[in-house]
Amino acid sequence: MTSESDTRVGASTAPTSPTSPTSPTSPTSPTSPTSPTSPISTDVLIVGAGPVGLFAAFEAGVVGLSCQIVDTLERIGGQCIELYPDKPIYDIPAIPSCTARELVDRLMEQCRPFNVPIHLGQRVETVQQREDGRWTVTTGQGLVFDTAAIMLAAGNGAFVPQRLALPEATPLEDSHVHYSVRNLADFADKTVIVAGGGDSALDWALALRQVARRVVLVHRRNGFSAVASSVDEMRRAVDADEMEFMVGSIAALAAPENKLASIEIRQIGGTAQIDADHLVVLYGLVADLGPIANWGLKIIGGRVDVDTSNYESSRPGIFAVGDIANYPNKQKLILSGFHEASLALRKAYTYAHPDKKRVHVHSSYDAGLADRIATGSTHQA
Ligand SMILES: Cc1cc2nc3c(=O)[nH]c(=O)nc-3n(C[C@H](O)[C@H](O)[C@H](O)COP(=O)(O)OP(=O)(O)OC[C@H]3O[C@@H](n4cnc5c(N)ncnc54)[C@H](O)[C@@H]3O)c2cc1C
Repeated sequence: MTSESDTRVGASTAPTSPTSPTSPTSPTSPTSPTSPTSPISTDVLIVGAGPVGLFAAFEAGVVGLSCQIVDTLERIGGQCIELYPDKPIYDIPAIPSCTARELVDRLMEQCRPFNVPIHLGQRVETVQQREDGRWTVTTGQGLVFDTAAIMLAAGNGAFVPQRLALPEATPLEDSHVHYSVRNLADFADKTVIVAGGGDSALDWALALRQVARRVVLVHRRNGFSAVASSVDEMRRAVDADEMEFMVGSIAALAAPENKLASIEIRQIGGTAQIDADHLVVLYGLVADLGPIANWGLKIIGGRVDVDTSNYESSRPGIFAVGDIANYPNKQKLILSGFHEASLALRKAYTYAHPDKKRVHVHSSYDAGLADRIATGSTHQA
């Protein structure tokens, strides 16, 4: 399981060094973790740090609401960063073209004046409405939130690593079979098989060769979905005998007494057996609606049904915006999610401040907002 990182809106999305204990492309620098015992009080809890969750954080500030963001992943950006960081996006208003990574950077920059805490490596699990109408939300990693409203910006659900489809792998998880690399030192002087052909697989294979006795990258074909510079570096490392590459797939694990001994690789025309201490499987991420499916919300086709006048779900006080929202003619577009978040937060305001009437002010006339943006104030609304 991942550990918690606590960061704030405004951090850059530049990758960390491969020796970082988090993923090789983690953008954030973890600061002091929030105490898991004391509830964190906020007006709105935003579940998901994808583009829509980040824009919702900005919009919460504009509307005058405090917020906190949680995400299962160790880095912000949702699908934009996980699935297509370097692809250009052409349909964001007033930005003719930017890569998905640039969009996330710009959203972070836009949020920065509100200094919103982002809790990474935290999967929201349970929700309970109290008698006073507020919600207690817990994460699987022990955080507790006390919030007036919940903004689900959870995309297609929490991203989880795609696991090896071999039953014998399950009891070896964390000890010998890994779906992320937490600490390179754990692999010092070991034989490590890295399975996968994307950026993470190549980055980690390259990083592991610096500490491991032997590194073998296994991928089903001699072509990769990683950036060209990583592929070139990997091929150079193979030529220099610093690591090996095999075309094939993981067929079986031999693990007498629950200790990985060897791995069978299926190849065209036969199988190969490699003695190994560890297997690192980096097949990418799959989305799973997970615990949110048990929150008593009306779910249609794996998405949360909402009222399009305010994007509120069947449970008043819980909103769904972005890809997770379901309504007639819903388009899974970033633009749609921005609009949904904006309307949802205006309704959320009535839960956070039932005794106040929010006066609508265009941002162009909002002196407080202008001041905050100009000074980069860390004030939380
Ligand atoms: C290849 C590709 C190209 C695309 N191109 C475009 C384009 O050009 N223009 C466009 O408008 N759209 C495009 N899209 C779609 C766009 O990326 C999505 O509409 C957008 O990412 C949705 O944003 P979101 O914030 O709702 O969800 P996501 O980006 O999916 O983020 C959701 C976040 O919520 C987190 N989460 C989920 N469940 C939990 C939980 N229980 N606890 C904590 N965290 C949780 C996830 O880890 C994730 O980080 C593209 C999509 C793909 C795959």
